[in-house]
Amino acid sequence: MSNLSMLIGGQAVAASNGATFDRLNPLDGSLATRAPAATTDDAVRAVEAAAEAFKTWSKTGPNERRALLLKAADALDARTPQFIEAMGAETGATAMWAGFNAHLSADMLREAAALTTQVAGEVIPSDVPGSLAMGVRQPAGVVLGIAPWNAPIILATRAIATPLACGNTVILKGSELCPRTHQLIIESLQAAGFPAGVVNYITNAPADAGAVVEAVIAHPAVRRVNFTGSTHVGRIIAQTAAKYLKPTVLELGGKAPFVVLDDADLDAAVNGAIFGSFANSGQICMSTERIIVDSKIADEFVKRFAGRAASLPLGDPRKPEPVVLGSLVDHSAVDRCNALIDDALAKGAKLLCGGKADNTLFAATVIDHVTPEMRIFHEETFGPVKCVVRVNGEEEAVATANDNAFGLSAAVFGGDIARAWQVASRIESGICHVNGPTVHDEAQMPFGGVKASGWGRFGGKAGIAEFTDLRWITVQTTQRQYPF
Ligand code: NAD
Repeated sequence: MSNLSMLIGGQAVAASNGATFDRLNPLDGSLATRAPAATTDDAVRAVEAAAEAFKTWSKTGPNERRALLLKAADALDARTPQFIEAMGAETGATAMWAGFNAHLSADMLREAAALTTQVAGEVIPSDVPGSLAMGVRQPAGVVLGIAPWNAPIILATRAIATPLACGNTVILKGSELCPRTHQLIIESLQAAGFPAGVVNYITNAPADAGAVVEAVIAHPAVRRVNFTGSTHVGRIIAQTAAKYLKPTVLELGGKAPFVVLDDADLDAAVNGAIFGSFANSGQICMSTERIIVDSKIADEFVKRFAGRAASLPLGDPRKPEPVVLGSLVDHSAVDRCNALIDDALAKGAKLLCGGKADNTLFAATVIDHVTPEMRIFHEETFGPVKCVVRVNGEEEAVATANDNAFGLSAAVFGGDIARAWQVASRIESGICHVNGPTVHDEAQMPFGGVKASGWGRFGGKAGIAEFTDLRWITVQTTQRQYPF
């Protein structure tokens, strides 16, 4: 069991009133982590520490920030075994998923290090004689990052890496479901030697999330908010941020379509669909959620896909035997998946493998002949329950893919690449891969969604635009002529 501290102004601290909350292991209910339950005053103290540190951190040169981010990447990599243990205990994740999380997060810190010299502006031609006009990018101020539990190292690292690279100071608000996992990221940054107050970490009891988050957003020093999590909470954050006129980056839910055209390489499509559907038991925002298959090849695709799904190993991730599917994050996830299966089967869908579970070890489940009347067609399962929708031709495939509130990731498999590209270009999503899985993330890519999946982009230069202010600055180099 881990006993945690927060990090405020370089000091490891408990909540000012001594309050704590517990995170239990989802498999056996044992105590995984006891973490401080911040008060709103604690949250404000974290903002004040970050605002003070901003005065000097925002003036550092790119190579100073680069060196610290590179050291942090190595420190994070070195903690991979601790991350695997913490994620297994707090979220039930497999060692494979936790190890991948640590690896990609270290890459995100390295990419952020590379971005420090890319925070560039431009010289813009002016119509005023002698006016040297520039668009200058400057750090914005204190940035609040809020991250969820499902890809916890990746999502919390990306919430703070580019903001730090741009010269902002940050507050990470950890997830109530994995406070130890998130704290290990902060430990890595501390080990690298970031100055006090540049990186701050707060944790809160679940019931206090709204008040703690609003206390931070309301503070005048906070200039950006980024949130990764559900669309439901994303709307609340957007409303709170609007109240205080704070710009946000919102990375929300998904219901990724995976389109299989009639000329697709079926083995390649099955491999892509298996990986995208069942990595981390489907608990990824980019998880393949709707497999939209041309009816000409649907029988053969479904036979191979369900056969592979049924053979995927499931088990307690803490045991030595490697598994693909570990534990779901909690019993509410089991209840949600069970209810979606019940609803689909009652309305005429066909269960091909897996099925309802009575504990958090949920098997890979495939449901065929899903239609828009069923809840599972529209709602995120965020679990290993996948639906197959059969369509006739590419027009119906595109219409079906777009018949959804979300728009994060998508995939199109087809032999004629020009045709597959045309289909991809018509899908309403922030991300789309032709002949590749819906689950794909790289630190330098413009990651983000459209529609109910949110707005804004993490990654690469798009991230610099989110976490800096673009200012117009002029220098008058000759005598200026005035009309009076
Ligand atoms: P969640 O929205 O329930 O919780 C995320 C965070 O919101 C937590 O830190 C919590 O403290 C905070 N929160 C809860 N209530 C709040 C309130 N009233 N005010 C302010 N903050 C509040 O999300 P989750 O269940 O942890 O994560 C799963 C969801 O995240 C899924 O919908 C998934 O698709 C989405 N997700 C999106 C991306 C992406 O990049 N688009 C990535 C991963 C996960």
